[in-house]
Amino acid sequence: MPSLTALLSRVDPAIARKVERAMRRVPFLRRQMERQYDAIVDELDASLHPYRGRLAEYTQLPATGRSRDEILAEMTMLRDEEQGRWRDGFVSGAVYHGDAAHIDFLNQVYALNSQSNPLHFDLWPSTVKYEAEIVAMTAHMLGAGLSSDPVVGTVTSGGTESILLAMRAYRDRASAERGIERARIVAPSSAHAAFDKAAQYFAMDLVRVPVGPDYAADVDAMAAAIDKNTVALVGSTPSFPHGIVDPIPELAALAQEEGIGLHVDACLGGFVVPFARGLGYAVPDFDFRLPGVTSMSADTHKYGYAAKGTSVVLYRGDALRRYQYYAVADWPGGLYFSPTFAGSRPGALSAACWAAMVSTGEEGYRTAAAGILATGQLIRRWVEQIPDLVVLGDPLFVVAFGSPTLDIYRVLDAMTARGWSLNGLHHPPAVHLCVTLRHTQPGVAQRFVDDLRAAVAEVKANPSAKGGMAPVYGMAASMPMHGLVEDLLKRVVDALYRVA
Ligand SMILES: *Cc1c(COP(=O)(O)O)cnc(C)c1O
Repeated sequence: MPSLTALLSRVDPAIARKVERAMRRVPFLRRQMERQYDAIVDELDASLHPYRGRLAEYTQLPATGRSRDEILAEMTMLRDEEQGRWRDGFVSGAVYHGDAAHIDFLNQVYALNSQSNPLHFDLWPSTVKYEAEIVAMTAHMLGAGLSSDPVVGTVTSGGTESILLAMRAYRDRASAERGIERARIVAPSSAHAAFDKAAQYFAMDLVRVPVGPDYAADVDAMAAAIDKNTVALVGSTPSFPHGIVDPIPELAALAQEEGIGLHVDACLGGFVVPFARGLGYAVPDFDFRLPGVTSMSADTHKYGYAAKGTSVVLYRGDALRRYQYYAVADWPGGLYFSPTFAGSRPGALSAACWAAMVSTGEEGYRTAAAGILATGQLIRRWVEQIPDLVVLGDPLFVVAFGSPTLDIYRVLDAMTARGWSLNGLHHPPAVHLCVTLRHTQPGVAQRFVDDLRAAVAEVKANPSAKGGMAPVYGMAASMPMHGLVEDLLKRVVDALYRVA
């Protein structure tokens, strides 16, 4: 008999959503679902909290403080236990630089600036300088000098915040200048989840247009999705799932023709792709030198090699950036303003970001990009030679692969068993490795491909093994009832915050 999820996968999604809503209104079914969620999450719980029973767990403040030495010793032990996988290159993305000397340097910079808060610009003008220069250097790298308009921006806490801020700026500009009440964003299906998050937070409509067979944005289909409420298009350089650079010159021309914005999400590629062309890779223009590009995001905490917690959002012109700001003149707490979502902000992270950029320099970024791109191409060619696997599209340094013959999530599980932490993807089922400087270390790429070959052989020999992530992805990919899967994911978040 076919499984319930297999049956559900044949149901029309629109009908499935109706059924789902109806099911949620039936208390008996609602309780059934809750019990199922509880069972799944209880099973995950132990793996989310491996230190339970081993380390002291605090559910209230300790009556008297613990010794600093003891805390430092415990944290050193945990750091040592946890760093092996990313340091030795078993992890997709996550840590983009990771050399010990670089980390030590950033830590020293953090220590020098740990009290700084750019909200108090009068107390820490040094942080103001660092942030202005982070924005200027990033803008220059992304074509500001070749742009017909000034390119401006702000430092944010990460790619998601950069994207949320830009989407809200487009919404508020359209509301103020065009009277649009419910703004629409048109994005390729491959655009980052942060665009969905922006649409949910700020009550906008996000239209996701399927990518073409090359996994790049389908410009004609995006053009067809533009309506009178559309405020901006989105393109990625490259996309998170498949590492594909969208046709930005065509999207920029379309945006200009329609008189709307184009956000180029270079969160991932902002510090790699600018150097790719000079290194011989065929990459079309993708930045502010195209007049239709009106905003960009670039993550300094990825390939900018800063510590986690910074990104840059850029705009064509001051007027659009001002829609991002917040200012209030009649608050009893005084005249107040802030550039981003946060009030107080960690100035030390901006100092560390500035120090990472200035100590690496253009030459350093180019050399790093050369190693990452070469390793990406090597891995891609090797994966292409593995029968049963296919590489999706024409990637630069994020290599996504699926299989026409095997359950790719079983391959993912077999790689996990070999110590790897890769990203599972769906629509279509696939797995990716995001290549970082960690993978440019001698022998790492070879080990990845050797392990991948062994994992494929293992799955071929035993295709019906049980457990792991394969059934979870199988369910999520085949289930038209997204709401149920989203419910389950939110319960996983609950579980992260559990204490015994
Ligand atoms: C990482 C990433 C983001 C989101 O960045 P966070 O720093 O995780 O918030 C957005 N877009 C792309 C393409 C990314 O790779």
